[in-house]
Amino acid sequence: MAKSKSSSKSSDRKTYCIMCGKEKNGIEIKIDNVINTIRYIKKKIFHTERNNRLVVCEECYPSYSKNRKRFVSRQRLYIGLGVVFLIFSVFLAPNVGSFLIGLAILLLLYALSFLNYTPELSISITKDKKMLSRFLNTHNKKELKNNT
Ligand SMILES: [Zn+2]
Repeated sequence: MAKSKSSSKSSDRKTYCIMCGKEKNGIEIKIDNVINTIRYIKKKIFHTERNNRLVVCEECYPSYSKNRKRFVSRQRLYIGLGVVFLIFSVFLAPNVGSFLIGLAILLLLYALSFLNYTPELSISITKDKKMLSRFLNTHNKKELKNNT
């Protein structure tokens, strides 16, 4: 118990952008249950998990935020459809069977909604407009410097 995991050892971890797959720095994504599940499967079954830091790089941020919005709205739609289907099936035939079928469809739609899974960022940069513009600006400035 005395020896807790030292985070100083994580310096050899590599940082990858989840969008372009390049080794780059950027805004770290939130490690949620989906990421943890994927990591667990990779570790247990494929033995390929390297525990890299996952980020969204500056260049990919615009396409990331588009994907994220699409994912969130699609997931809401899928869940909404599932719930409506569940309510209707129980309403039309109020028995356990139709409830279970409705529930199965709801779960299926929920699982399908993860097909274009786009994780959340660890910090809510979209809510902080200043931070976002600074983030995008630093990239532009760097590019200007590189070009001159
Ligand atoms: Zn990228």
